[in-house]
Amino acid sequence: MRQCLTSIDGGYYTSLAAGRDQFGAKGDFITSPEISQVFGELVGIWMVAEWIAQGKRKDGVYLMELGPGRGTLMDDILRTIRNFGDMASSLQAIYLVEASAQLRQAQHKLLCGESPLEQTDDGYKSMCKYLPDVAVIWVEDMKLLPPAEESGMPLIVAHEFFDALPIHIFQSVESAAKSALTKDPSQTQTKEHEWRELVVTPRAPFELKEDEPEFELSLSKIPTPHSYLVDAISPRYKPLKSTSGSVVEISPESLAIVSELATRIGGSTARSARSDGAGTQKQTPSGAALILDYGPALTIPTNSLRGIRAHHRVSPFSAPGLVDISADVDFQGLAEAALNASPGVVAHGPAEQSTWLKAMGIEARAQMLADNAATDADEARVKGAWKRLIDRGPHGMGKLYKALAILPYVEGQKMRRPVGFGGDIELDQT
Ligand code: SAH
Repeated sequence: MRQCLTSIDGGYYTSLAAGRDQFGAKGDFITSPEISQVFGELVGIWMVAEWIAQGKRKDGVYLMELGPGRGTLMDDILRTIRNFGDMASSLQAIYLVEASAQLRQAQHKLLCGESPLEQTDDGYKSMCKYLPDVAVIWVEDMKLLPPAEESGMPLIVAHEFFDALPIHIFQSVESAAKSALTKDPSQTQTKEHEWRELVVTPRAPFELKEDEPEFELSLSKIPTPHSYLVDAISPRYKPLKSTSGSVVEISPESLAIVSELATRIGGSTARSARSDGAGTQKQTPSGAALILDYGPALTIPTNSLRGIRAHHRVSPFSAPGLVDISADVDFQGLAEAALNASPGVVAHGPAEQSTWLKAMGIEARAQMLADNAATDADEARVKGAWKRLIDRGPHGMGKLYKALAILPYVEGQKMRRPVGFGGDIELDQT
């Protein structure tokens, strides 16, 4: 999955033929920020609401986006934040984590206009066209970000990023050794089970019919090293293990990244392992992360690996590098990893996208845009777009897509729900 998506040799995101675009009608898929500007505006408002609730900091605030695509979401966020002068002047930097050079260029053009793109030791840098004092900084991987400053306030968004991170798939099977010993049918209740990994294997060329994928998933004959770690990752897998055939999908990289986000917000109890001694200890947790993606609200993802090409679902094993591959996001898993990583965070949600967007005021904002539309056709387009974002039907994005928030937690302080998750705009009383 990693090679197919981000390898510099033929990765889907990293080496598209010049001029080809993954997004939009002519591309392979369309995302919420590309459907309507209202989406990004509301994410911006959410960040403004957090900035207000956390005491209207005057400095040390930084924005961060993982997988910014064409840059549309960050552009809409910045257009929105610009209207709140005190917040805009509190911004120190904008960090973008982006694996693709082509998309970095598109983001640079949109967010920085004429300001040149300079190469740095760890990535690239330019200045924001909306806020000329604020640098936009690109890195290809979270690990290349400068260490979190103890006083920093990160406002983080990841839209359709986690679904692109590699998963491992495991299936519960009866342990071979034990089942040989339990020939007695009365002992079926006490069968022992183990996790086995489903691995990508090439198919025999003589079996292939034209246009069939060259790879398939097959059950490993013995447990792979990863299989032994499943139970240690989370207690959530245990109840499924005793049922032969249960399949779970796990994205260790997603768990590592969300842990890093959590420690940026809430600090960590563990001293950082970094050689320069820079820690992630934090006296006062601050900041927020908003994770928007698709996946089940409560259950563990299963059988969700998919390929998308030209707006159609295809085998994830077909045309490697030309097909977008993704998997459902395990929201409970992300929340659990964040809480385990930092004593200074809480998680809210996941809320369905329709619920979150409605609570954020999508109807009022979309109506305003519709009223200002120049032509009837434009008005119809505006209305169609925002309705698709909240449509809970099979073709809409309101139900499958979810929002998960990670917020600071300070012991002894009253729990505050963020806007869109049952909370209202609140002024910090301190
Ligand atoms: N957020 C955008 C784009 C979603 S597509 C939108 O909603 O429109 C996924 C994005 O994540 C792309 O920008 C892709 O290049 C980037 N990406 C995918 N895997 C990545 C990885 N491992 N590291 C960094 N960026 C990655």
